[in-house]
Amino acid sequence: MKPFHIFNSLTRAVEPFMPLDTSPTPTATFYSCGPTVYLPQHLGNMRAYVFVDTLRRALEFNGYTVRHVMNITDVGHMTSDEDAGEDKIEKTARAEGKSPLEVANFYIAQFKRDCAALNIALPIDAVPDAVAHPPQSALCRATDNIPAMIGVIEQIAAHGYAYTTPSGVYFDVEKWRGPSGMGRLSRQSLSEQHAGQRLEHSADKRSPHDFALWVLNQPHHMMQWDFPGIGRGYPGWHIECSAMSMRYLGETIDIHSGGLDHIPVHHENEIAQSESATGHQFVRYFVHNAFLTGMAGAKISKSAGRFPVLDDLVEEKIHPLAFRLLCLGAKYRSELAFSIDAVRAAEKNLNYLNEFVRCLQPRVIANAHDAAWAGAYEERFHEAMNNDLNTPQALAVALELVAAAYRQNDHRIWHTLRIFDMVLGLDLEGRIKEIAKGVFPPRINRLMTEREKARAAKDFKRSDELRAEIELSGYEVKDTKAGMVVMPKRVAP
Ligand code: AMP
Ligand code: ZN
Repeated sequence: MKPFHIFNSLTRAVEPFMPLDTSPTPTATFYSCGPTVYLPQHLGNMRAYVFVDTLRRALEFNGYTVRHVMNITDVGHMTSDEDAGEDKIEKTARAEGKSPLEVANFYIAQFKRDCAALNIALPIDAVPDAVAHPPQSALCRATDNIPAMIGVIEQIAAHGYAYTTPSGVYFDVEKWRGPSGMGRLSRQSLSEQHAGQRLEHSADKRSPHDFALWVLNQPHHMMQWDFPGIGRGYPGWHIECSAMSMRYLGETIDIHSGGLDHIPVHHENEIAQSESATGHQFVRYFVHNAFLTGMAGAKISKSAGRFPVLDDLVEEKIHPLAFRLLCLGAKYRSELAFSIDAVRAAEKNLNYLNEFVRCLQPRVIANAHDAAWAGAYEERFHEAMNNDLNTPQALAVALELVAAAYRQNDHRIWHTLRIFDMVLGLDLEGRIKEIAKGVFPPRINRLMTEREKARAAKDFKRSDELRAEIELSGYEVKDTKAGMVVMPKRVAP
């Protein structure tokens, strides 16, 4: 295995990635802070998910099996990250005359749609309220994990780091002096971490820096659950990530991601909660993406009013994957300025790659061997990806490979390009599918369309019959994540 290097915010250094699992076929555990579902996800949020998806793909490219969990925040995230204000989901619910569940379901569906358009593979939906289960990948909702959160709060309290008052259960920040301390990640004192934020200092909190694990006595709050022995209420925002990470991945995980904005409060608090509950290190590698900024350099945020979303690009007739390519064109730790012109420029590179693939001869696609000279590009691509996810360089290698194929009039690079695309996620395979449709006789096209319908209807018996019929006509049928790919049967190289 080639060593994969990534910047660890805990040590502020690029480090070789070494997962906890040291077996010859290792699994890497990866938790990503996911969306708060009260408004559409803006393109800044989508940058964070493109980063998550690229990191997962890069780990898989390096031979790791990735167990990936992403949470969906559908309760407890207040309009201020400091427990103050109104629950974001409930604010939208009140404004739109809907239930919090309706609001969450609506924006979750939109989030999934946007991820699909950007070729971001999300983990599978967790089964709500499933009892004990082995560690697994999951897209999981906070409201489905309240018992797990209560369990972690009880562990924290049992170790003496939580106290209960009439307004809630709080984490005792001043008392916590665990292995990571408070501020290890942000390298800031408590007052620096909270600088510029209006701290809610309710009379019964021991310190203004203490944060809520469970909120009590808020009768206007719509979503409430019983915490046996404590009272009816709802969780603070941070506890969900500690609880879901532990529930689905275990007490210590390899990688935890989020945007840079999560460092000073959310992730500091997650570390304190998790490590005070278990006594073990919570995360081995914390990774953070930099912001997508507006033209004036300001972070794009939901609270700042009008923010760009994927639908804006569709309206401008820009392919969504051009945004993915824009993200890949910058290092994930560098700020990236958003503008329609910048996405249009990225779309030119997308079109360049698509055009090349569209013009490939079926004979070249079917040929199992690429030109020998393509091997050097694969080496360079791998090196770039393993160097702290240097996607701009990896993308440049992909573009250079295509340019070299044109220059030498030797197009035998499809398999190399396909490997690159498994990491870049630009769906070049989809173009192959389109040309396949175009070059096949009408009878095969008809059988393909019928089989796609059978697959969508989960009629696998019919789908298998159709596969056999297509294969009998001299074609190879493959079912990929991007759908069915049909190619003329391989000829010997
Ligand atoms: P939220 O839905 O606000 O909880 O954010 C979801 C994810 O998007 C988090 O990982 C944030 O850190 C990240 N994020 C928010 N704004 C931006 C931005 N402008 N650029 C990049 N990432 C962002
Ligand atoms: Zn989180």
